[in-house]
Amino acid sequence: MDSPRPSLPCPFAKVHPSQLRRDDEFYMWLAYNEAIAAWQEDEVPIGAIIELDGKIIAAAHNQRDSTRDPTAHAEILALGQAAKAVDNWRLTGATLYVTKEPCPMCSGATLMARLKRVVYAVPDAKMGCLGGAVDLNALPHSNHHLEISRGLLEKPCLDLLRAYFQLKRKED
Ligand SMILES: [Zn+2]
Repeated sequence: MDSPRPSLPCPFAKVHPSQLRRDDEFYMWLAYNEAIAAWQEDEVPIGAIIELDGKIIAAAHNQRDSTRDPTAHAEILALGQAAKAVDNWRLTGATLYVTKEPCPMCSGATLMARLKRVVYAVPDAKMGCLGGAVDLNALPHSNHHLEISRGLLEKPCLDLLRAYFQLKRKED
């Protein structure tokens, strides 16, 4: 059994966007809140939301340490939840909102899930695979392509990540 993770106070507050305007920013703020939940579990603060037809069908955050699972990234966990919610591995028409550009594994998974769109906040020139380091969405012979939006709420999501890593460096 997993031992409970120590909780880590987060100096950033969750945001409560108006429910009235369910636009990209609304969903990204919810992903941001998931990232804060990750921080509170002493995990790298990355969060993800999946929306389909105006409904949130998945909300998850990075749980790599607590599960000791290298695949327990926010996006992978969210894709699993979403597939369960619609009872189908094909997430046609769905949009993933994530606070950092997906890694090679997660970028691949978004394509395999046939998502309609991916919206990410912070680009990742090192490991991002939807345009940052490489672009898996541009595979020339792939028969599925995503719509991608980059940089939405980049600053708050980046501030969160930077502050977390700064804290961890101090601890070392
Ligand atoms: Zn990933």
